[in-house]
Amino acid sequence: MKAIIIHGGVRVYGKLKENPERVDELRKAVKMGYETLIEGGSALDAVEASVRYMEDSPLFNAGYGSSLNILGEVELDASIMDGRSLRAGAVGGVKGVRHAITLARAIMEETPHILLVGEGARKFASIIGMEVNEDLVYEARKQLYEAYMKGVGKKGFPSYLPSPELIRNYLADTVGAVAVDDKGRLAAATSTGGIMMKLPGRVGDSAIIGAGTYANEAGACSGTGVGEAAMKVLGAKQVVDLISEGTHPQKAVEEVLRRLWEKTKTPFGFIAIDREGNIGYAHSGVGLWYAFSKGGVIEAHVERRRVKVEE
Ligand code: ASP
Repeated sequence: MKAIIIHGGVRVYGKLKENPERVDELRKAVKMGYETLIEGGSALDAVEASVRYMEDSPLFNAGYGSSLNILGEVELDASIMDGRSLRAGAVGGVKGVRHAITLARAIMEETPHILLVGEGARKFASIIGMEVNEDLVYEARKQLYEAYMKGVGKKGFPSYLPSPELIRNYLADTVGAVAVDDKGRLAAATSTGGIMMKLPGRVGDSAIIGAGTYANEAGACSGTGVGEAAMKVLGAKQVVDLISEGTHPQKAVEEVLRRLWEKTKTPFGFIAIDREGNIGYAHSGVGLWYAFSKGGVIEAHVERRRVKVEE
């Protein structure tokens, strides 16, 4: 049964504000992916379509609207994986490319490699005809950056490091999608500007196959939260491994969130899907933005209920 579930990031700490506009954008993004499936597109086409929609929206931390690094620049991470073939493509710290997910897919389909970073990734994008000089800085992100920079040096943390407080409050809005098509093929995709005020060159879980994105013939998963935590435990791979053993995607995401907390004491969020179109979504923070489409039903919400973890 074809189905798709997407996320618009997790808020890990602080307050979660109502944001009907974002929920609406999520609904449109998931519709885009589902319509791709209805028109005969593959699971890969569907996850790419939904993620591209969110990369275009300034309301998410991906493509246009991304978080800024400590130099005020946008550096993007993204990855995509085809479950049946285990083929994958990823990009780390690339500048000027709005649709990092499409670049990741091109790396998967047109090169023998999985991950290209920085200038090399940008050069490859240019060779295949993608626009590589886009201004992806959104005004609201710039204001946040400027407000932060005023405080640098005054709050007791070095100017070249993002403070833990800042990471807590401003980490959010990364996007991801997982889908299954009528042929039972699964795919996963994740795209982000990463953590606000990150060091230049920092690459997070969204670019790392197994950490923020994974798919095989049984399941697919995309994650969101402080990337370094998911990289320590390869969170997305763990979720898909549980699904491969017969665990329902909902139980799988909850179990891995508990393990991730136990090992890293860090809240996180995951979405997942299996071959039958069963979906899972959960987080151990304050809220997870998500939407799914399945059997003609479209739902978009913020999930506030959090998985219980041992504090
Ligand atoms: N996981 C992303 C990163 O660490 C951030 C996020 O999910 O909001 O780059």
